[in-house]
Amino acid sequence: MLHYQIEFDDYRQHLVHVTARFLANPTQVLSLPTWIPGSYLIREFSKHIEAVRAYDEDGRLLQIEKFEKNKWRLFNTDHELITVEYDVYAFDLSVRGAYVDQSRLYVNPACACLGLVDQEDTAIEVEVFLPPKLKHFQLATGLKSKSLVKGRYTLYADNYAQLIDAPFELAEQTRFSFEANGIPHEFVVSGKHAMNAQRMQQDIEKICSTEISMFGSAPFKDYTFMTMATANSYGGLEHPNSTSLISPRDDLPKASEPVEPSADYQRFLGLCSHEYFHSWLVKFIRPENFVNYDLNKEGYTSLLWIFEGFTSYYDDLILLRSGVINQDSYIKLLKAQIDRYLQNPGREIQTVAESSFDAWVKFYRKDENSNNAGTSYYNKGCLVALCLDLGLRLRGSSLDALMRKLYENAQNGIQVNERTIFNLCNELTGDDWLEQINHLINTTDELPLDQLFPEFGLSYTLKNDKSLPFGLKLADKPEGMLVQSARRDGAAAKAGLSANDVIIAIDGLKATVKLAEKYAKQDGTYTVLAFRRDELMSFEVKAAGSELSEVELKVEDQAKAEKWLKA
Ligand SMILES: [Zn+2]
Repeated sequence: MLHYQIEFDDYRQHLVHVTARFLANPTQVLSLPTWIPGSYLIREFSKHIEAVRAYDEDGRLLQIEKFEKNKWRLFNTDHELITVEYDVYAFDLSVRGAYVDQSRLYVNPACACLGLVDQEDTAIEVEVFLPPKLKHFQLATGLKSKSLVKGRYTLYADNYAQLIDAPFELAEQTRFSFEANGIPHEFVVSGKHAMNAQRMQQDIEKICSTEISMFGSAPFKDYTFMTMATANSYGGLEHPNSTSLISPRDDLPKASEPVEPSADYQRFLGLCSHEYFHSWLVKFIRPENFVNYDLNKEGYTSLLWIFEGFTSYYDDLILLRSGVINQDSYIKLLKAQIDRYLQNPGREIQTVAESSFDAWVKFYRKDENSNNAGTSYYNKGCLVALCLDLGLRLRGSSLDALMRKLYENAQNGIQVNERTIFNLCNELTGDDWLEQINHLINTTDELPLDQLFPEFGLSYTLKNDKSLPFGLKLADKPEGMLVQSARRDGAAAKAGLSANDVIIAIDGLKATVKLAEKYAKQDGTYTVLAFRRDELMSFEVKAAGSELSEVELKVEDQAKAEKWLKA
């Protein structure tokens, strides 16, 4: 048994005090993950570990040596009961970290609980002690738990992998319980908010039962949604039987929420639907090399277009299928997804398989060049899923059927590799899909949306979008007009202007976004004066029609559309 005691008495200074007790191996190594599954960036969680001390059974101080950035070693400790104590600095509000203050105690064990190398399968008990002033806080977690005394909780994990994939929160919470297909669910919200809980429950129940019914069963026995309401933050992280969400409080349903959810609330419902879908796709159905994560280094896969892309396709589609949004809303969400794709010049540079593989150094490390050079495995992956779904339906099958095959395989211990989608499409239709799927995932050729939509009663028309003058995303600032990003193929970038330049004059007039928009629509060459750092530079920008496209997507034949949308 590995036992952690977690105390929050220094919550005002954002400190978590951890005491780990265990029977040590000879030269026992302790290690902390460098990343957390579901978020593909080396986070170096160990940077927040402070003052590590080790003691023997009699309380004598032992030598503990740090020998790698995230690893510590004890010596001659064979079968001794060892205590290791340390503090964790916890002031990261993200769903990946730990956050502690007077309003909330939130811990991802991946960033707080040192693990025992070569004892990863040991059963784990975590005892949580609330400070006297916060004894009324309620607990939310996907882990099994029990509380015999007020202000004290015990959490249980079968092994270390389960522990670090289950965050827990203690806070003043708004919560409700419900059942979906007989499975108990908890929905928990903390932070300042005025959520209409009744409406939330009505919608989330439909979403959950639609997803369970699609797969036929669920890979969990209970499920917990944990949401932190904030001003502007947005994000989610999936776990096997829980999810941690952070959302703008304005995205939560209001007392006066209209029958058709507002765009803000649709975004929150989509986030819930997305993370819940991950319980099947990525937590249970996994890339082969994610079956045992090595949390000491990057875990590469070129398959995130499946795990994030398909999930992004289903998140909104499930909202429609469950009746939570209507068809017009769904078509709008799909249009936005297609516009994002069309307006991203990087789609001509990077394939969606490359984008998956490079998540660690590109997708999770965005900069001013990202849109010019990269494609998103969420965005393009979603549209690849759409193309596959429509293509499979034209041959008498569907992506739903493929998802159920993936689920059945995973139940039999068969996980996903580079060949899986090719093989399953073949199995479902009897056709060879090699060339078609290669085209979607291993080339930067345009997607065949213009050919597929008409088969399902939708017209697909491209029009020019003039929203970016000279290919620049601009913002008026007191010091001038700031270039937030520059499309590589735009008139301004071709003339040499870059992201972070501050434009002060166009054609001898004070630069404003309004003026730039006016000039961009006319033909002509303009002298643009801009500061790069503190140096004034001059550029000759030749205005030309915008290359940007947006799509007009219309249902022309409702009966044909329903063959896809009402499936
Ligand atoms: Zn996701």
